[in-house]
Amino acid sequence: HHRKARTVSTLERLPIPGTADDLRLETPGGPVHESVLDAVGSSPLVRLRRTAAHLSAAVYVKLEQNNPGGSVKDRAALWMVRRAEADGSLRPGGTIVEGTSGNTGVGLAVVGAQLGYSVVVVVPDKTSREKIAVLRAYGAEVVVVPGGVPRHDPRHVHATAVRLAEEIPGGWLANQYDNPANPAAHRETTGPEIWAQTGGRITTFVAGIGTGGTVSGTGEHLKAVSGGRVRVVGVDPQSSTYSGGDGSPWAVESIGHYLHPDTVEDVWPESYHPEVLDEIVTFSDRDALLTGRRLAREEGLLVGGSAAAAVSVALREAEGLGPQDVVVVLLPDSGRSYLSKNFDDDWLRGSGFLEEGVEHPVRALLP
Ligand code: PMP
Repeated sequence: HHRKARTVSTLERLPIPGTADDLRLETPGGPVHESVLDAVGSSPLVRLRRTAAHLSAAVYVKLEQNNPGGSVKDRAALWMVRRAEADGSLRPGGTIVEGTSGNTGVGLAVVGAQLGYSVVVVVPDKTSREKIAVLRAYGAEVVVVPGGVPRHDPRHVHATAVRLAEEIPGGWLANQYDNPANPAAHRETTGPEIWAQTGGRITTFVAGIGTGGTVSGTGEHLKAVSGGRVRVVGVDPQSSTYSGGDGSPWAVESIGHYLHPDTVEDVWPESYHPEVLDEIVTFSDRDALLTGRRLAREEGLLVGGSAAAAVSVALREAEGLGPQDVVVVLLPDSGRSYLSKNFDDDWLRGSGFLEEGVEHPVRALLP
């Protein structure tokens, strides 16, 4: 059937140690890698069989939680480090520094562990204990600073990371928001993968905008290779400034652009290339979180809030599409990092996202 995505990752060819370089084996059981870094990318596409069953377009999700560090940010982390090595800004024995509460820190920790760099991650104090524990488990040093302070405050996450990168000998700041290697990772890997996996049949690409690296880089490749035919849709929280909002808070993590009230001028990241997008579509927290709950129950896909938000937008977009359309939605990470919020019925109800009572069908059978 023409809509079925081809698996490109499992037919990897690999050299056999101790044999001529040109002797290679097909590995139909799945790829075999000589380094965890070779396991970054080549994520699967999965069809939404039930959640999108009412639509005539085919909707596929690209499952980035399959990356070694558990998110799409492994791609950017690897490309930023490789490029810094190539241009000499990161030298052997050096220290990778980044200000992030999230997946980029984990990606850099994975890459640093494998390549022998020290990793220092600056996080705001609201960061969950689990996230800090994951970073420390990979051997990264975690520096906790107060959150919610303006950008010019020396305690600010980014300001602290900039200072540490300068003061630590051999320090290098990854700077995902303004590092061209971040969108480049997606132009060089995510975009080509999606094009190959869909056999060039993709018509719409949907992704959230955090640093903008994913939607910009992937979008650029898909636009170029399709002669502009693929429609690129950015996904943004209703109150985020990317889509013209006032920057007031939202619940879904890792996407959208917020401006501290003390900051004079709004500066968007250089990783974000708005000219690549055909449209920015906004979502409500409620729609995103309830879509995430449905994805777990209807599709067996436990995904993060930004992924759920992207699906909620893609389902709305796909309503206007026909049977020739193939929609690909990028899902950045797993829901495991958000179990105590997004997937906790009490939290959902307490935050006003869920009205119904908790269903306990088994309890009714007990005496
Ligand atoms: N969702 C999650 C969970 C993320 O970690 C990120 C990256 N910060 C994004 C979405 C946004 O991706 P990008 O920075 O490439 O726009």
